[in-house]
Amino acid sequence: MNTKYFSLIVLSSVVAGQAFAGEDPLLKTTAAQAQFPELPYPYDALEPYVDKMTMEIHYSKHHKAYYDNFLKATQGTEMEKMTIGDIFRQISKFPAAVRNNGGGFYNHVFFWQNMSPAGSSSISPAFEKILTARFGSMDEFRKQFGDAAKTRFGSGWAWLSVDDKGELFISSTPNQDNPLMDLADKKGTPVLGIDVWEHAYYLKYQNRRPDYVEAWWKVINWQVVEQRYKAAVKTTE
Ligand code: MN
Repeated sequence: MNTKYFSLIVLSSVVAGQAFAGEDPLLKTTAAQAQFPELPYPYDALEPYVDKMTMEIHYSKHHKAYYDNFLKATQGTEMEKMTIGDIFRQISKFPAAVRNNGGGFYNHVFFWQNMSPAGSSSISPAFEKILTARFGSMDEFRKQFGDAAKTRFGSGWAWLSVDDKGELFISSTPNQDNPLMDLADKKGTPVLGIDVWEHAYYLKYQNRRPDYVEAWWKVINWQVVEQRYKAAVKTTE
C-alpha cells in the first residue's frame, strides 16, 4: 500500500478517537505479540522542524533496535505473555534490558503518534481551555513543559501526563523510562511526550536542544494528545 495513503488511514482513525478509546492498545498487547509499527507519515513529513535523515535513522535504526532487543529480552520468560502495560507497572522487578528496550519501544511508538506535519493539526478550543485552567496560560504550559525538556540532564523524555485523580502534570524521565513505570518519580498516563536524546535532534540542531524543543511545538498532533487525555481521564472517573 502507498505509504501516504496508509498514513492517512492511520491518522484518520486516530483522529476519530477509535485508537484511544480506553487504555492505549499497545499497552494491552503482550510482549510476544508486539509488532514494529509503520511510521504514520513519510520520513520527510516533519521538515523543516524535524529533518528527514534524523527521522529515518531514529525510526529504522534506534526504534527498531529497541523493538528487537525488547523481544529478545522477554522471549522465553514470564514477560512474554504479560501485557506491556503490566510489565511497566512492575518494571522495577525486571532486568534493565527490559526496562530500557521496552521503554524505548513503547515511547517511540507514542512519540511518532503525537507528531504530525506542521499545519495539519491545531489545538481545539476545548483542550486549550483545559490546559489554561491547569497551568494558568498556554504560555505558562509551554514554558513548564519546555523547561522539563530542556533541563532533563543527559538522555530522556519530558511528558504531559494524567495522574490517578485525573489531573494533568508535567514531568521528565531519564533514559527510556516513562510515567507508566512503577519506579517513575510521578506516575500517570502520558498524553504528550518529547524525546530529548541527542539522537532525536543532533544532526540538525547539534548541541542546541532548546531550539529543537521550540521547533517541535510546530509538529505536535493535538488531536492525538486530546484523545489520549480524554481516554486517560475516563479511566480515573
Ligand atoms: Mn529516540
